[in-house]
Amino acid sequence: MRGLARIEQDVLGWVDIEIDEYGPYDAICKPLAMAPCTSDVHIVWGHAYMSDAPNRVVGHEATAEVVKVGDKVKDFKHGDRVIVPAITPDWLTVPAEQGFSQHC
Ligand SMILES: [Zn+2]
Repeated sequence: MRGLARIEQDVLGWVDIEIDEYGPYDAICKPLAMAPCTSDVHIVWGHAYMSDAPNRVVGHEATAEVVKVGDKVKDFKHGDRVIVPAITPDWLTVPAEQGFSQHC
């Protein structure tokens, strides 16, 4: 799979990435469209706190197609089209199940 990444300060480019492992509640998704946000801009052209990581893949708000799911995922399957929000809570926590997913 390829990812759009911060290669180095002020340089954006494509990198090949391998995703060999994913958890039982995870999904691997192929992006269909992405909305760059100010966090991405700050990572590439600014000095955001995560800017030191080389080849850091950016983009965390997108629409995508599900490619693989973990064995405990029941609500999504290969081929589903989904929205990937900026925040992906841990839905197995009590606050998330009580409707306060922003805290998880
Ligand atoms: Zn964002």
